[in-house]
Amino acid sequence: MTNSTDGARVVVIGAGPGGYAAAFHAADLGMDVTLVDVEAEPGGVCLYRGCIPSKALLHVAALLRETRDAEAWGVHFGAPEIDLDALRGWKEQVVKKLTSGLGQLARQRKLTLVRGRARFRNAHSIEVTSVDGDADMDRTIEFDHAIVATGSRPTVIPGLDLDSPRVMDSTAALALDGVPDSLLVIGGGYIGLELGSVYAALGSRVTVVEMTSGLLPGADRDLVEPLARRLRSEFEEILLDTRVIEMQEATDGVRVTLAGLNLAQPQRTFDRALVAVGRMPNSQGLGFEQTGVEVDSRGFIKTDEQRRTGEPSIFAIGDVVGEPMLAHKATHEGLVAVEVIAGRPAVFAPLAIPAVVFTDPEIAWCGLTETAALSRGIPFEIARFPWAASGRATTLGRNDGLTKLLIDPQTERVLGVGIVGQGAGELIGEGLLAVEMGARADDLRRSVHAHPTLAETLMEAAELFFGPATHYLPRRKR
Ligand code: FAD
Repeated sequence: MTNSTDGARVVVIGAGPGGYAAAFHAADLGMDVTLVDVEAEPGGVCLYRGCIPSKALLHVAALLRETRDAEAWGVHFGAPEIDLDALRGWKEQVVKKLTSGLGQLARQRKLTLVRGRARFRNAHSIEVTSVDGDADMDRTIEFDHAIVATGSRPTVIPGLDLDSPRVMDSTAALALDGVPDSLLVIGGGYIGLELGSVYAALGSRVTVVEMTSGLLPGADRDLVEPLARRLRSEFEEILLDTRVIEMQEATDGVRVTLAGLNLAQPQRTFDRALVAVGRMPNSQGLGFEQTGVEVDSRGFIKTDEQRRTGEPSIFAIGDVVGEPMLAHKATHEGLVAVEVIAGRPAVFAPLAIPAVVFTDPEIAWCGLTETAALSRGIPFEIARFPWAASGRATTLGRNDGLTKLLIDPQTERVLGVGIVGQGAGELIGEGLLAVEMGARADDLRRSVHAHPTLAETLMEAAELFFGPATHYLPRRKR
């Protein structure tokens, strides 16, 4: 099949999960695609400095915890010996395998990979400056359509941007150049908790400081509680309602001053600090003033539902257009932008985008959350199935989970799913399908789930909406 866009010149700036997915799809539709990034191979933050290296290290952290948990079942492994160079090497191999695989897929699709920093000259051309400072490699590329997928970078705390090797952002923490005896994690969001869990498993005494009253602000409290309980035993301390107001380099570490409720010891010294207080869009220095592209007050590029910017020839996707800043959101926006360029009637309007926190236990949710439903006054009924009643959770020694469904009281449609427990990140796939496909609670309860599996908790949560679940008695009858 030929498209009206066959041969259309498309430039994609940024080769993260948004940019490379868009570039691949555009090439598959017959467009003439150039993908520009400062890195040699595609991957972006997700593969080089985000999702992939963090999950490789979290896998090792989970293994270390499991060997320790196994003591209770009479299996003794002894104290682990960690070869940090080998561990770092393995993590780097995982990244290399995936990024070179993407490079291969790009070359098989015959798209042009250009290494350099891009900047718009006008609404139909960019200049690309070589990353090695070799002016002969600089070039101008003309396009019919451009897709901006430049992603985001860690936020720095104004006034606390101490330039010291003892102060790390997520990129430095993933480099794993040592395991500090004591580590301060500033920020109780998912990146701080995931990386804090890695360092705690490797032997650091981890203290988390979070300025709001709970970990993972925005997530439903009943999902966060089992995680908070476990982290209180894994971490040295979790300080809520607390801020870091001063940070200085001292001979023996990073000296911080904390401000918070009932703080016994406001001044403390840590070997290292990890700042994980959020991410900001990479929308500066791109020459948007030469185009009609607009950004909002936080620097996110303004787009419509088709990911068109204020300049008709330029689209924008991924972290640089706003929350949720997640790889899979970026990918799907990229596919939509390409469909629109191809003249197809596409919009980015998913009912649900899953969020997963890869801690232990994991937390995952999609669609309507209880917090959002309450604040927006959306009517809902809730069905909660505790994993204490799950046979599979019991065989794993992990009854500390919960599966809940938010259900529309009129239509009985599943509006949202939240799960905390081992493997929640995999289980949310079924919840996502239920929300996106407009499944009703009855559909979930009548789908025959394999036994014994954790997926049964979704089915039994749906049973609870109507009355007793096989393994759990209801609080109310319908
Ligand atoms: P990015 O992946 O940020 O890629 C942007 C690319 O653009 C970069 O390669 C950059 O070099 C390039 N670029 C920028 N400016 C220019 C320019 N002027 N010229 C040329 N190239 C340029 N998300 C998840 O969904 N799951 C997770 O488990 C997860 N874990 C994470 C863990 C950590 C520690 C971090 C930091 C992030 C994590 N994320 C996770 C978030 C995820 O990495 C981002 O949401 C995702 O990478 C965004 O994709 P993107 O395509 O928008 O941009």
